[in-house]
Amino acid sequence: VVGLGPGGRDYLTPRALAAIQEADVIIGYKTYLEFIKDLLEDKEVISSGMRKEIDRARQAVEIALTGKVVAVVSSGDPGVYGMAGIVMEIAGDRIPVEIIPGVTAATSAAAVLGAPLMHDFAVISLSDLLTPWETIVKRLEAAGQGDFVIVLYNPRSKGREMQIEIARQILLKYKEANTPVGLVRNAKRQDENSIITNLGDMLKEDIDMHTTVIIGNSQTRVEHGRILTPRGYRL
Ligand code: SAH
Repeated sequence: VVGLGPGGRDYLTPRALAAIQEADVIIGYKTYLEFIKDLLEDKEVISSGMRKEIDRARQAVEIALTGKVVAVVSSGDPGVYGMAGIVMEIAGDRIPVEIIPGVTAATSAAAVLGAPLMHDFAVISLSDLLTPWETIVKRLEAAGQGDFVIVLYNPRSKGREMQIEIARQILLKYKEANTPVGLVRNAKRQDENSIITNLGDMLKEDIDMHTTVIIGNSQTRVEHGRILTPRGYRL
């Protein structure tokens, strides 16, 4: 199970590249296969649509059981809202499964913004497809209370627009309206775009499923156009 990183080839690790080259069969979501199109020429490629994770994992395991080397590719890190878990669940002990880590959206987005994650942070997905909304609310409350820097994955999609607004309202109970917020769309990809705003104003900006949202803690500040969460050094 191979993490492709955020998209740009410079951020694909050498081990991930080698795993793709070694594989007989490559399986993945079609958008992500685009990132590695040039590596797929002499491969058997199985591409599938969104929300087809279970089918993809089953197919991968079935093909691996025939003796072929299969690479299931996943964006970012496959162990962060990616394919690693479902492949392990379906494979059981029938085949060896190697998980190859990748640069996850939290750290690629953080690098675009400056250094927002220098202290304790919590990662929360706002997608309630596989997680009950009450659980997400509870975690937002707890992360807010804990003064964590908060990274939101899957912040908003068409037809799922209220979650980010509710998340912001919950966090405003614990964080000041001027808390720095960074929005990074397509981090480390061709059409990368980032905006620095704050918790009060963040919803005036475009946020979609290609965006990662990073919300500061009580110490986070904006310096020279970048977000900085001090680690605590005395200078
Ligand atoms: N396994 C992936 C995350 C999958 S969840 C990883 O480790 O990065 C999908 C969410 O990740 C998106 O909705 C978005 O919030 C975030 N994301 C993934 N790639 C991104 C990128 N290049 N730039 C900004 N956000 C990204």
